[in-house]
Amino acid sequence: MTTLKIQRPADGTLIEEIPAHDAAHVAVVAERLRDAQREWEQIGPKGRLVWIKRYRKWLLDNADHLVEIAMEEGGRVRNEPTLETTLLQEIIDYYIRVAPRLLAPKSVRGSSPLTFGKRYTVHRSPFPLVGVIGGWNFPLLLTIGDALPALVAGAAVALKPSEVNPRAVVEAVRGWREDIGAPPVLDVLLGAGDVGAALVDAADFVQFTGSVATGRRVAVRAAESLTPVSLELGGKDPLIVLEGANIARAANCAVYGGFANNGQVCMGFERVYVQHSVYDEFVDRVVAKVKSLRSGVDDRSDVGALTHPPQLDIVDRHVREAVDKGARVLTGGNRIDRAGTWFEPTVLVDVDHSMAVMREETFGPVLPIVRVADADEAVRLANDSEFGLSASVFAANTGEGERIAERLEAGAVSIDDFVANMVCADVPQGGWKSSGVGSRLSETGLLKFTHTKVVASHWMPLPANDIFWFPYTPARRRLFAAAARLIHGRGPSRLGL
Ligand code: NDP
Repeated sequence: MTTLKIQRPADGTLIEEIPAHDAAHVAVVAERLRDAQREWEQIGPKGRLVWIKRYRKWLLDNADHLVEIAMEEGGRVRNEPTLETTLLQEIIDYYIRVAPRLLAPKSVRGSSPLTFGKRYTVHRSPFPLVGVIGGWNFPLLLTIGDALPALVAGAAVALKPSEVNPRAVVEAVRGWREDIGAPPVLDVLLGAGDVGAALVDAADFVQFTGSVATGRRVAVRAAESLTPVSLELGGKDPLIVLEGANIARAANCAVYGGFANNGQVCMGFERVYVQHSVYDEFVDRVVAKVKSLRSGVDDRSDVGALTHPPQLDIVDRHVREAVDKGARVLTGGNRIDRAGTWFEPTVLVDVDHSMAVMREETFGPVLPIVRVADADEAVRLANDSEFGLSASVFAANTGEGERIAERLEAGAVSIDDFVANMVCADVPQGGWKSSGVGSRLSETGLLKFTHTKVVASHWMPLPANDIFWFPYTPARRRLFAAAARLIHGRGPSRLGL
């Protein structure tokens, strides 16, 4: 039997070895979930929200426990998984507020004269089984956070957390099933990519968060069965700092956005472009702050270990290659010599876009900073990337920041801030270019888990035969042509002139 060896990234020791599932088990779980889903859909949004509210309380009561598990298996400091459990509450509150309205049938008045006498209603039906596949950097948010709107929509959900750190997700699913005794419409599948692939085959909708390479594989596989997908993929997010900005705040923000969760944030700053006139002050402040960051996993630490061991080699390779090509390390730059997966918080300057550290996702504690002449050069370089997840701008005033935001190719732009969009469940979060297809949160984050069904009815008594139906005659064709001119023509062309 295949097993998953779950390790403590902080020291490399084994937490536990857990049995992995196989493709046959995925099919069994999918079948069970589909069975349970029928009743779940029938109880309607009101009935489902009763359980979601109970689960909200369970998540609140058990937040510390979940955080402890996520810290241990992720090598993370307490604040990071705490952010996850907090954002889960935001997501629940938002969908409790909007779901009854969004999921209710909607009457639509047709705008064309052709719709006279008709009555249109748009209904929402859930995809019966949603497969949620998540990455390891925010294991709870990227699985439970997407499962919640899918459940609210009336779907059953199979979660496939990363094999690296699935234990917090297992516990969160246990809470749903055992502690609150909710209907068995949520389950978890344990395993690596083969289990994820089997889930893509089994699901009616796939919600995926992970790397661009795996996202492509998922999209190709799902295309075989025309299964819809929503893909939240990697990023290489830029921060732009311009003359007149609040440089103290910009520097603190750069360090937070670059090193939060040890740089393992899809929307983390991975490139910084600073106007030459404020460059020296900005860099001095950033370096001083980064030097003060404490690596460790106790409650006085700022930066933890790298969650996924292979990430250490990627981070190391990006830094080494940049240095070989002429970059300078202002602080950090090396692995930390202790058991576990540790790398020093690192600041690089004299970097350019020929270097992997400026083009590929580093996903670690490295902040490369580039000196630019002006806003135009900053925008050009920020957009020179295959990614387009989010970005931040610090400018002389919010008006200038907002004008620059319009020119950036990204799914979200924060002005004078880092991922300010993330605390607002009312707005969509999705990437441009290779950073994704579709989005999560907001109304779309719920409605994407549903099909629409339009019922076209009528309020007017209908004749035995319709004018559009057979027989086709020249007289009717002339009548239709004249009616079309009358409806769609403007000015004299209405009369055929
Ligand atoms: P991966 O792409 O390696 O894995 C993501 C998930 O897909 C894991 O559960 C993985 O399983 C699973 N998987 C692997 N192969 C397949 C397959 N063939 N079919 C289906 N599923 C498969 O990503 P990471 O776990 O490394 O996560 C980090 C990435 O996620 C970064 O690129 C980051 O930017 C991105 N991300 C994007 C976010 C966004 O909102 N845009 C948010 C957070 C992260 P296993 O791990 O067991 O191999």
